[in-house]
Amino acid sequence: MRKSFRDNIRVEVTPASPFFGEFTEEKQMTASRDIERSIKRHIDGIGTIAVVYDIVGVCSHCGSKWTEASDSYNGGCCEGDEANNPQPAAA
Ligand SMILES: [Zn+2]
Repeated sequence: MRKSFRDNIRVEVTPASPFFGEFTEEKQMTASRDIERSIKRHIDGIGTIAVVYDIVGVCSHCGSKWTEASDSYNGGCCEGDEANNPQPAAA
């Protein structure tokens, strides 16, 4: 029988969704680092604090979600991607 307990207890800060508005990726990173600095300046007892994010892969040609292990071929999601097919179909 599984016994569960809380571990790695921490506080994560997520800005309210309107906060970033139409910010670009770079402006979102800058704003997040500003929040990080403000928290360090005003809150005692901070062990570590870090700006964290997910990396999302998309096709550079059509913007489709990247689904393949390869960094150069996404399974043929579009004509531009198909040009990188390592095993192109015989003509
Ligand atoms: Zn594509």
